Amino acid sequence: MQQPGVDKNLYKGVWVYAEQRRGEVSSIVYELLNEGKRLAEKLGTILSAILIGSNIKSKAQELINRGADKVYVCEDPIFAEFQDDPYSSVLTQLIEKEKPEIVLMGATNMGRSFAPRIAARIRTGLTADCISLEVDPETRNLWQTRPAFGGNIMATILTPGHRPQMSTVRHKVFKEAKTEEGRKGESVEYKIDVQTLLNRTKFLGFIKDANAAMNFAVADIIVSGGRGLGNREGFKLIKELAELLGAAIGASRAAADLDWIPHSHQIGQTGKTVSPKVYIACGISGQIQHIVGMNSSDIIIAINKDAACPMMQIATYALEGDLHEIIPCIIKEIKSS
Ligand code: FAD
Repeated sequence: MQQPGVDKNLYKGVWVYAEQRRGEVSSIVYELLNEGKRLAEKLGTILSAILIGSNIKSKAQELINRGADKVYVCEDPIFAEFQDDPYSSVLTQLIEKEKPEIVLMGATNMGRSFAPRIAARIRTGLTADCISLEVDPETRNLWQTRPAFGGNIMATILTPGHRPQMSTVRHKVFKEAKTEEGRKGESVEYKIDVQTLLNRTKFLGFIKDANAAMNFAVADIIVSGGRGLGNREGFKLIKELAELLGAAIGASRAAADLDWIPHSHQIGQTGKTVSPKVYIACGISGQIQHIVGMNSSDIIIAINKDAACPMMQIATYALEGDLHEIIPCIIKEIKSS
Protein backbone atom coordinates (compact mmCIF):
# COMPACT_ATOMS: atom_id res chain seq x y z
CA MET A 1 0.00 0.00 0.00
CA GLN A 2 1.30 3.45 -0.89
CA GLN A 3 1.51 6.15 1.79
CA PRO A 4 -0.69 8.98 0.47
CA GLY A 5 1.37 11.67 -1.27
CA VAL A 6 4.81 10.35 -0.33
CA ASP A 7 7.69 11.31 -2.62
CA LYS A 8 10.33 8.74 -1.68
CA ASN A 9 13.09 10.77 -3.35
CA LEU A 10 12.75 13.44 -0.66
CA TYR A 11 13.74 10.97 2.06
CA LYS A 12 17.48 10.59 2.72
CA GLY A 13 19.71 9.30 5.50
CA VAL A 14 19.68 6.68 8.22
CA TRP A 15 18.67 7.73 11.73
CA VAL A 16 19.32 6.11 15.08
CA TYR A 17 17.32 7.23 18.08
CA ALA A 18 19.87 7.72 20.87
CA GLU A 19 17.90 6.45 23.84
CA GLN A 20 19.11 7.81 27.18
CA ARG A 21 17.83 7.98 30.72
CA ARG A 22 19.16 10.63 33.07
CA GLY A 23 22.06 11.28 30.74
CA GLU A 24 23.10 7.64 30.43
CA VAL A 25 23.02 6.48 26.82
CA SER A 26 21.66 2.94 26.46
CA SER A 27 24.11 0.37 25.06
CA ILE A 28 21.57 -0.51 22.33
CA VAL A 29 22.36 2.88 20.76
CA TYR A 30 25.96 1.82 20.09
CA GLU A 31 24.70 -1.41 18.52
CA LEU A 32 22.30 0.52 16.29
CA LEU A 33 25.02 3.00 15.31
CA ASN A 34 27.19 0.10 14.16
CA GLU A 35 24.44 -1.41 12.03
CA GLY A 36 23.13 1.99 10.93
CA LYS A 37 26.60 2.91 9.66
CA ARG A 38 26.74 -0.26 7.56
CA LEU A 39 23.32 0.45 6.05
CA ALA A 40 24.15 4.13 5.42
CA GLU A 41 27.39 3.21 3.65
CA LYS A 42 25.54 0.71 1.47
CA LEU A 43 23.02 3.40 0.53
CA GLY A 44 25.73 6.07 0.05
CA THR A 45 24.13 8.33 2.65
CA ILE A 46 24.88 9.68 6.12
CA LEU A 47 24.13 8.34 9.59
CA SER A 48 22.48 10.66 12.12
CA ALA A 49 21.71 10.18 15.81
CA ILE A 50 18.79 11.86 17.55
CA LEU A 51 19.39 12.88 21.14
CA ILE A 52 16.37 14.04 23.16
CA GLY A 53 16.73 15.00 26.82
CA SER A 54 17.66 17.66 29.31
CA ASN A 55 21.31 18.74 29.63
CA ILE A 56 22.53 16.08 27.26
CA LYS A 57 24.41 18.18 24.69
CA SER A 58 27.72 16.82 25.96
CA LYS A 59 26.73 13.31 24.77
CA ALA A 60 26.72 14.36 21.10
CA GLN A 61 30.49 13.88 20.64
CA GLU A 62 30.24 10.39 22.18
CA LEU A 63 27.73 9.48 19.44
CA ILE A 64 29.96 10.99 16.75
CA ASN A 65 32.89 8.97 18.12
CA ARG A 66 30.72 5.87 17.69
CA GLY A 67 29.98 6.58 14.01
CA ALA A 68 27.25 9.24 13.76
CA ASP A 69 28.00 11.84 11.07
CA LYS A 70 25.42 14.22 12.46
CA VAL A 71 23.66 14.50 15.83
CA TYR A 72 20.37 16.34 16.26
CA VAL A 73 20.12 17.54 19.85
CA CYS A 74 16.67 18.36 21.27
CA GLU A 75 17.14 19.79 24.75
CA ASP A 76 14.55 21.07 27.17
CA PRO A 77 13.69 20.48 30.85
CA ILE A 78 10.42 18.94 29.61
CA PHE A 79 12.52 15.95 28.42
CA ALA A 80 14.21 15.37 31.80
CA GLU A 81 12.18 12.17 32.32
CA PHE A 82 10.89 10.00 29.50
CA GLN A 83 7.22 10.61 28.72
CA ASP A 84 5.56 9.30 25.58
CA ASP A 85 3.76 12.47 24.57
CA PRO A 86 6.53 15.10 24.43
CA TYR A 87 9.14 12.60 23.20
CA SER A 88 6.96 11.25 20.39
CA SER A 89 5.82 14.79 19.47
CA VAL A 90 9.31 16.16 19.04
CA LEU A 91 10.59 13.13 17.13
CA THR A 92 7.54 13.26 14.83
CA GLN A 93 8.23 16.95 14.13
CA LEU A 94 11.88 16.25 13.40
CA ILE A 95 11.10 13.36 11.06
CA GLU A 96 8.51 15.43 9.17
CA LYS A 97 11.02 18.27 8.76
CA GLU A 98 14.20 16.35 7.91
CA LYS A 99 12.72 13.29 6.15
CA PRO A 100 15.07 10.38 6.93
CA GLU A 101 14.55 7.22 4.86
CA ILE A 102 15.27 4.80 7.75
CA VAL A 103 14.68 5.27 11.49
CA LEU A 104 16.09 2.66 13.91
CA MET A 105 15.16 2.47 17.59
CA GLY A 106 15.86 -0.06 20.35
CA ALA A 107 13.18 -2.66 21.08
CA THR A 108 13.39 -1.48 24.69
CA ASN A 109 10.55 -0.43 26.99
CA MET A 110 11.05 3.11 25.72
CA GLY A 111 11.27 2.24 22.03
CA ARG A 112 8.33 -0.14 22.21
CA SER A 113 6.30 2.53 23.92
CA PHE A 114 6.75 5.51 21.64
CA ALA A 115 7.90 4.19 18.23
CA PRO A 116 4.34 3.00 17.31
CA ARG A 117 2.90 6.44 18.15
CA ILE A 118 5.36 8.12 15.81
CA ALA A 119 4.77 5.59 13.02
CA ALA A 120 0.99 6.07 13.33
CA ARG A 121 1.28 9.87 13.24
CA ILE A 122 3.42 9.92 10.11
CA ARG A 123 1.38 7.09 8.59
CA THR A 124 4.29 4.77 7.96
CA GLY A 125 5.01 1.15 8.84
CA LEU A 126 6.90 -0.07 11.88
CA THR A 127 8.52 -3.49 12.15
CA ALA A 128 9.02 -4.33 15.81
CA ASP A 129 11.64 -6.59 17.43
CA CYS A 130 13.91 -6.97 14.39
CA ILE A 131 16.87 -9.31 14.62
CA SER A 132 18.41 -8.56 11.23
CA LEU A 133 18.33 -5.74 8.69
CA GLU A 134 19.44 -5.39 5.09
CA VAL A 135 19.07 -2.73 2.40
CA ASP A 136 18.76 -2.90 -1.35
CA PRO A 137 20.79 0.06 -2.68
CA GLU A 138 18.74 0.10 -5.91
CA THR A 139 15.22 0.33 -4.48
CA ARG A 140 16.50 1.69 -1.14
CA ASN A 141 14.07 -0.70 0.57
CA LEU A 142 14.86 -2.02 4.05
CA TRP A 143 14.48 -5.76 4.63
CA GLN A 144 13.49 -6.19 8.26
CA THR A 145 13.56 -9.69 9.75
CA ARG A 146 11.85 -10.62 13.00
CA PRO A 147 10.60 -13.80 14.69
CA ALA A 148 6.90 -14.48 14.14
CA PHE A 149 4.34 -17.03 15.36
CA GLY A 150 6.05 -17.52 18.73
CA GLY A 151 9.49 -17.78 17.10
CA ASN A 152 8.54 -20.69 14.84
CA ILE A 153 9.24 -18.71 11.66
CA MET A 154 11.38 -15.74 10.68
CA ALA A 155 9.39 -13.11 8.79
CA THR A 156 11.09 -10.58 6.49
CA ILE A 157 8.99 -7.45 6.22
CA LEU A 158 9.25 -4.59 3.72
CA THR A 159 7.36 -1.30 3.60
CA PRO A 160 8.30 -0.34 0.03
CA GLY A 161 5.57 2.27 -0.46
CA HIS A 162 6.30 4.11 2.79
CA ARG A 163 8.93 6.47 4.15
CA PRO A 164 10.60 6.53 6.54
CA GLN A 165 11.04 2.82 7.09
CA MET A 166 10.95 2.31 10.86
CA SER A 167 12.23 -0.61 12.92
CA THR A 168 12.73 -1.38 16.56
CA VAL A 169 15.69 -3.73 17.02
CA ARG A 170 16.40 -6.19 19.81
CA HIS A 171 19.33 -5.83 22.13
CA LYS A 172 22.56 -7.69 21.38
CA VAL A 173 21.77 -8.74 17.83
CA PHE A 174 24.43 -6.34 16.53
CA LYS A 175 27.88 -5.64 17.92
CA GLU A 176 28.54 -2.24 19.47
CA ALA A 177 30.26 0.39 17.31
CA LYS A 178 33.85 0.95 18.39
CA THR A 179 34.90 4.35 19.72
CA GLU A 180 37.11 6.56 17.59
CA GLU A 181 38.19 9.44 19.84
CA GLY A 182 37.93 12.92 18.31
CA ARG A 183 36.04 11.73 15.21
CA LYS A 184 34.66 14.62 13.13
CA GLY A 185 30.92 15.14 12.89
CA GLU A 186 28.25 17.78 13.10
CA SER A 187 26.07 18.54 16.11
CA VAL A 188 22.87 20.44 15.31
CA GLU A 189 20.62 21.90 17.97
CA TYR A 190 16.95 21.48 17.10
CA LYS A 191 15.00 24.43 18.49
CA ILE A 192 11.74 23.34 20.01
CA ASP A 193 8.65 25.34 20.69
CA VAL A 194 7.43 23.37 23.70
CA GLN A 195 3.94 24.79 23.20
CA THR A 196 3.68 22.67 20.05
CA LEU A 197 4.39 19.45 21.95
CA LEU A 198 1.56 17.20 22.98
CA ASN A 199 1.69 16.72 26.76
CA ARG A 200 -1.30 15.04 28.34
CA THR A 201 0.51 13.46 31.28
CA LYS A 202 2.14 14.84 34.41
CA PHE A 203 5.35 13.31 35.70
CA LEU A 204 4.94 12.78 39.46
CA GLY A 205 8.15 11.00 40.39
CA PHE A 206 10.49 8.11 39.75
CA ILE A 207 10.38 5.06 42.03
CA LYS A 208 13.13 2.51 41.54
CA ASP A 209 11.87 -1.07 41.67
CA ALA A 210 13.72 -2.58 44.63
CA ASN A 211 13.11 -6.05 43.17
CA ALA A 212 14.16 -5.11 39.66
CA ALA A 213 16.10 -7.83 37.93
CA MET A 214 19.70 -6.97 37.16
CA ASN A 215 19.71 -5.36 33.74
CA PHE A 216 19.34 -8.41 31.50
CA ALA A 217 20.42 -6.39 28.50
CA VAL A 218 23.96 -6.06 29.80
CA ALA A 219 24.31 -9.37 31.70
CA ASP A 220 26.85 -11.78 30.21
CA ILE A 221 25.52 -14.67 32.29
CA ILE A 222 21.94 -15.43 33.35
CA VAL A 223 21.02 -18.18 35.81
CA SER A 224 17.35 -19.01 35.42
CA GLY A 225 15.05 -21.13 37.56
CA GLY A 226 11.82 -22.94 36.75
CA ARG A 227 9.14 -25.07 38.36
CA GLY A 228 11.75 -27.82 38.81
CA LEU A 229 13.18 -25.84 41.75
CA GLY A 230 10.28 -27.29 43.72
CA ASN A 231 9.46 -24.24 45.83
CA ARG A 232 10.38 -20.64 46.58
CA GLU A 233 13.34 -21.78 48.70
CA GLY A 234 14.81 -23.31 45.54
CA PHE A 235 15.61 -19.81 44.32
CA LYS A 236 18.15 -19.47 47.15
CA LEU A 237 20.34 -21.92 45.21
CA ILE A 238 19.87 -19.89 42.02
CA LYS A 239 20.74 -16.66 43.85
CA GLU A 240 23.87 -18.19 45.38
CA LEU A 241 25.10 -19.47 42.02
CA ALA A 242 24.25 -16.17 40.31
CA GLU A 243 26.14 -14.16 42.92
CA LEU A 244 29.24 -16.32 42.50
CA LEU A 245 29.11 -15.90 38.72
CA GLY A 246 28.15 -12.20 38.74
CA ALA A 247 25.05 -13.24 36.83
CA ALA A 248 21.50 -11.93 36.53
CA ILE A 249 18.60 -14.07 37.75
CA GLY A 250 15.94 -15.20 35.31
CA ALA A 251 12.84 -17.33 35.70
CA SER A 252 10.23 -19.23 33.76
CA ARG A 253 6.67 -17.99 33.83
CA ALA A 254 5.65 -21.02 35.88
CA ALA A 255 8.06 -19.98 38.64
CA ALA A 256 6.92 -16.35 38.49
CA ASP A 257 3.22 -17.34 38.44
CA LEU A 258 3.82 -19.45 41.56
CA ASP A 259 5.12 -16.23 43.18
CA TRP A 260 8.54 -17.72 43.83
CA ILE A 261 10.13 -14.65 42.20
CA PRO A 262 8.77 -11.33 40.83
CA HIS A 263 7.55 -11.28 37.23
CA SER A 264 10.25 -8.72 36.36
CA HIS A 265 12.61 -11.74 36.17
CA GLN A 266 10.45 -13.69 33.70
CA ILE A 267 12.03 -14.60 30.39
CA GLY A 268 10.09 -15.56 27.29
CA GLN A 269 7.30 -14.56 25.00
CA THR A 270 5.45 -12.58 27.66
CA GLY A 271 8.60 -11.71 29.61
CA LYS A 272 12.02 -10.38 28.65
CA THR A 273 14.08 -11.34 25.62
CA VAL A 274 17.70 -12.00 26.51
CA SER A 275 20.84 -12.89 24.62
CA PRO A 276 23.66 -13.46 27.12
CA LYS A 277 26.95 -15.26 26.54
CA VAL A 278 25.82 -18.03 28.93
CA TYR A 279 22.26 -19.00 29.89
CA ILE A 280 21.91 -21.58 32.66
CA ALA A 281 18.40 -23.09 32.75
CA CYS A 282 17.71 -24.95 36.00
CA GLY A 283 14.55 -27.03 36.16
CA ILE A 284 13.03 -25.37 33.09
CA SER A 285 11.43 -27.70 30.55
CA GLY A 286 11.88 -25.35 27.58
CA GLN A 287 8.39 -24.74 26.26
CA ILE A 288 8.38 -22.64 23.11
CA GLN A 289 7.13 -19.56 24.99
CA HIS A 290 10.27 -19.66 27.16
CA ILE A 291 12.68 -20.65 24.38
CA VAL A 292 11.78 -17.65 22.16
CA GLY A 293 13.06 -15.37 24.89
CA MET A 294 16.52 -16.93 25.25
CA ASN A 295 17.41 -19.09 22.25
CA SER A 296 19.88 -16.58 20.84
CA SER A 297 22.15 -17.05 23.91
CA ASP A 298 25.69 -18.05 22.86
CA ILE A 299 25.93 -21.02 25.24
CA ILE A 300 22.97 -22.74 26.87
CA ILE A 301 23.54 -24.97 29.89
CA ALA A 302 20.52 -27.02 30.98
CA ILE A 303 20.17 -28.80 34.31
CA ASN A 304 17.18 -31.12 34.27
CA LYS A 305 16.03 -34.58 35.39
CA ASP A 306 14.41 -35.20 32.03
CA ALA A 307 16.99 -35.67 29.27
CA ALA A 308 14.25 -35.61 26.63
CA CYS A 309 12.75 -32.21 27.49
CA PRO A 310 13.15 -29.44 24.86
CA MET A 311 15.61 -27.38 26.95
CA MET A 312 17.99 -30.36 27.22
CA GLN A 313 17.64 -30.90 23.46
CA ILE A 314 18.67 -27.35 22.52
CA ALA A 315 21.36 -27.04 25.22
CA THR A 316 25.04 -26.70 24.36
CA TYR A 317 25.73 -28.62 27.59
CA ALA A 318 22.97 -30.78 29.09
CA LEU A 319 23.46 -31.89 32.71
CA GLU A 320 21.00 -34.69 33.48
CA GLY A 321 20.06 -35.13 37.13
CA ASP A 322 18.55 -33.52 40.19
CA LEU A 323 19.35 -29.81 40.32
CA HIS A 324 19.44 -29.99 44.13
CA GLU A 325 22.51 -32.19 43.77
CA ILE A 326 24.10 -30.64 40.69
CA ILE A 327 23.91 -26.92 41.62
CA PRO A 328 25.52 -27.37 45.10
CA CYS A 329 28.34 -29.32 43.40
CA ILE A 330 28.92 -26.44 40.96
CA ILE A 331 28.82 -23.90 43.83
CA LYS A 332 31.32 -25.99 45.84
CA GLU A 333 33.61 -26.28 42.83
CA ILE A 334 33.55 -22.50 42.14
CA LYS A 335 34.20 -21.70 45.81
CA SER A 336 37.18 -24.03 45.99
CA SER A 337 38.75 -22.82 42.73
P1 FAD B 1 7.64 -27.07 33.66
O1 FAD B 1 7.24 -27.08 32.24
O2 FAD B 1 6.72 -27.68 34.65
O3 FAD B 1 9.06 -27.74 33.74
C1 FAD B 1 9.72 -28.06 34.93
C2 FAD B 1 10.98 -28.81 34.56
O4 FAD B 1 11.74 -29.06 35.72
C3 FAD B 1 10.74 -30.18 33.89
O5 FAD B 1 11.47 -30.25 32.68
C4 FAD B 1 11.25 -31.19 34.91
O6 FAD B 1 11.85 -32.32 34.29
C5 FAD B 1 12.29 -30.37 35.63
N1 FAD B 1 12.54 -30.82 37.01
C6 FAD B 1 11.63 -31.11 37.99
N2 FAD B 1 12.25 -31.39 39.12
C7 FAD B 1 13.59 -31.31 38.90
C8 FAD B 1 14.75 -31.49 39.68
N3 FAD B 1 14.67 -31.80 40.99
N4 FAD B 1 15.96 -31.34 39.11
C9 FAD B 1 16.07 -31.03 37.79
N5 FAD B 1 15.00 -30.83 36.99
C10 FAD B 1 13.77 -30.95 37.53
N6 FAD B 1 6.68 -19.38 29.95
C11 FAD B 1 7.83 -18.71 30.16
O7 FAD B 1 8.77 -19.22 30.77
N7 FAD B 1 7.96 -17.41 29.70
C12 FAD B 1 6.98 -16.77 29.01
O8 FAD B 1 7.15 -15.61 28.66
C13 FAD B 1 5.76 -17.48 28.78
N8 FAD B 1 4.76 -16.91 28.08
C14 FAD B 1 3.63 -17.64 27.81
C15 FAD B 1 2.63 -17.09 27.00
C16 FAD B 1 1.51 -17.82 26.71
C17 FAD B 1 0.45 -17.21 25.85
C18 FAD B 1 1.37 -19.13 27.23
C19 FAD B 1 0.14 -19.95 26.88
C20 FAD B 1 2.33 -19.70 28.01
C21 FAD B 1 3.49 -18.96 28.33
N9 FAD B 1 4.49 -19.49 29.12
C22 FAD B 1 5.65 -18.81 29.29
C23 FAD B 1 4.31 -20.77 29.85
C24 FAD B 1 4.99 -21.94 29.17
O9 FAD B 1 4.11 -22.50 28.24
C25 FAD B 1 5.37 -23.02 30.21
O10 FAD B 1 4.21 -23.37 30.94
C26 FAD B 1 6.43 -22.57 31.21
O11 FAD B 1 7.54 -22.03 30.53
C27 FAD B 1 6.88 -23.80 32.00
O12 FAD B 1 7.77 -23.40 32.99
P2 FAD B 1 8.83 -24.45 33.58
O13 FAD B 1 9.69 -24.95 32.49
O14 FAD B 1 9.46 -23.79 34.75
O15 FAD B 1 7.88 -25.59 34.17
